Amino acid sequence: MENCIFCKIVRGEIPSRKVYEDDDVLAFHDIQPQAPVHVLVVPKVHIASLYEADMSHQAVLGKMLALSGRLASEQGASDGFRTIINTGRVGGQEVYHLHMHVFGGPEPLGRMLSKRVTP
Ligand code: 5GP
Ligand code: ZN
Repeated sequence: MENCIFCKIVRGEIPSRKVYEDDDVLAFHDIQPQAPVHVLVVPKVHIASLYEADMSHQAVLGKMLALSGRLASEQGASDGFRTIINTGRVGGQEVYHLHMHVFGGPEPLGRMLSKRVTP
């Protein structure tokens, strides 16, 4: 996608601090880390969000999850981590190129959601 920021990072048109790359995925440090370890893992192919994902993306989506433990460990999060994929307005998605956040400590991250999300 021409104007997609993560496609530009995949193409090397915007610099990033890469931590992993292969033919299918790229992983790089988030520009505004929310935790001591905060890496983004993106498919190289443009998929806007999980709403646009389909069975043709099964392998690359599986690869993103399958890499997460290794990437977390390599970045120093060896005692636990969290993966998040925000989707759409309600999910708080800001960049519409599917991406998986990998967050890690060293300290516990706290609850992801407050216990009650509905009144
Ligand atoms: P979302 O809210 O869409 O799940 O998360 C988007 C993430 O992308 C945010 O954590 C934001 O800091 C990160 N981000 C946005 N633009 C850039 C960029 O140009 N480079 C990097 N490395 N991260 C970015
Ligand atoms: Zn894109």
